[in-house]
Amino acid sequence: MINNPAVILVDVQNDFFTGPLKTSRVSNIIEPLQRLVVAARKNSVPVIYSVDVHYPQDVEVTRRWGKHAVKGTEGAQVIADLKPEEGKDYIVEKRTYSGFYETGLDPLLRSLYKGNGAKTVVLGGLHTNMCIRHTAADAFFRGFRIIIVRDGVEAFNDEDHEQDLKYLDYVYNAKVMLANEIIQEIVK
Ligand code: ZN
Repeated sequence: MINNPAVILVDVQNDFFTGPLKTSRVSNIIEPLQRLVVAARKNSVPVIYSVDVHYPQDVEVTRRWGKHAVKGTEGAQVIADLKPEEGKDYIVEKRTYSGFYETGLDPLLRSLYKGNGAKTVVLGGLHTNMCIRHTAADAFFRGFRIIIVRDGVEAFNDEDHEQDLKYLDYVYNAKVMLANEIIQEIVK
């Protein structure tokens, strides 16, 4: 059993799948994540979308990645294949790599499970070596256990992806598990 899990999907938005930051690699993660969120919802495991919502002047936009996930644009919308369930799932906006940095994610996690709080964050989405890594770091600093969905995260290339899976395990004690293995653990 995984202790009080919360599934967090990071940056599963149009601009990362079909827009300026797309790669051929990302479509692979959709189906495992679909399976995971369906099982999570069915078993009362909270599902949280941690989404990039930028202002055009954000440094990530101006200095590094160019225009992506700008507030109010189609590119900032969650992809249709992983649509949040209205009234049930949570959406937490962020403006940089970490889902925790100056967002409401921490208080949200602590409010779950009737106020006992989520204890484990299950991270899927993009990218293994950037937003997943920084969100994992902040989760670790706050005392959460971390699970990474092995077939539900991706990076721009294989080397970054594989290297960071090892890093997350080594540095943050993250457990790297397949979606199906996680599903087995959360089914009551
Ligand atoms: Zn961004």
